[in-house]
Amino acid sequence: MPGRQLAGDCPGPYSFQGVLENAHFALMLCRPRPFQHVPMFDKLRNWRVRRTVARHPIGESLWQDALRRCAPARRLGASDQATLRVLATLFLEAKSLEPTQGLQLGDADRVLLATHACIPILKLGLDWYDGWHSVIVYPSAFIPRRPHMDATGVVHQTDSALAGEAWGRGPVILSWADVLNPGKRPGHNVIIHEMAHKLDMLNGDANGFPPLHRRMNRRVWTQALSSAWDRLRGEYREGLPLPIDPYGLESPAEFFAVVSEQFFEEPAALREHLPEVYRQLELFYRQHPY
Ligand SMILES: [Zn+2]
Repeated sequence: MPGRQLAGDCPGPYSFQGVLENAHFALMLCRPRPFQHVPMFDKLRNWRVRRTVARHPIGESLWQDALRRCAPARRLGASDQATLRVLATLFLEAKSLEPTQGLQLGDADRVLLATHACIPILKLGLDWYDGWHSVIVYPSAFIPRRPHMDATGVVHQTDSALAGEAWGRGPVILSWADVLNPGKRPGHNVIIHEMAHKLDMLNGDANGFPPLHRRMNRRVWTQALSSAWDRLRGEYREGLPLPIDPYGLESPAEFFAVVSEQFFEEPAALREHLPEVYRQLELFYRQHPY
């Protein structure tokens, strides 16, 4: 259940070593269900999609407002924006948005949240978000009240404020204040961050190794992400400025989530500084944001 902390010490205690083997094993056990195209089911699904879009359309003014507030969506061509609008409609139908602690989410807020959430799956499909139902939204950063055990076996009460959190088969949890104000540093997007964790966890624990497509090379993926991670950890220790949020050095899972944020929010900068990582994300998300 990786969470997006507002401030984190890094580098963390994790390593990319072994991720390839573990992920390979996990892939065999728990690959997302294959998207088999059985004509009858395709027809049924297409009919449901058309019915949902017809019954609960996102109105033009709400959609234009979402585009204005969502830079990755604004950069898309007209055809992809139309696809994103359908996906956002289906997302709102399939998922339960649950504001808490007195927070009110209006229609524009819900459409904005769904639009951000569907950016990573624009070319993958809503099936990639199967297996969970709720998005819980706090007014601001939240502190999960649960114990955790450290490496020495000592149990602590978590006291870090989180901007977001994603559970393996449970909800996505967001701080609405952090959705609206992602911070001074460009490239932050807590919704995309948590959705990247959801994709990562499709084949087991979050480890920076989501289920890759058939034609992708697992070793090339691991090499690209682990070498970038190692280099940035070294630069961080030397006090050098980093091209990504240092929170990405907390673990391979956080690295994948942070570079995914930047891939969609600041693609030019990611491609300039981490071209091999950018290339692998292009292949995984099947998008070319820059
Ligand atoms: Zn995270």
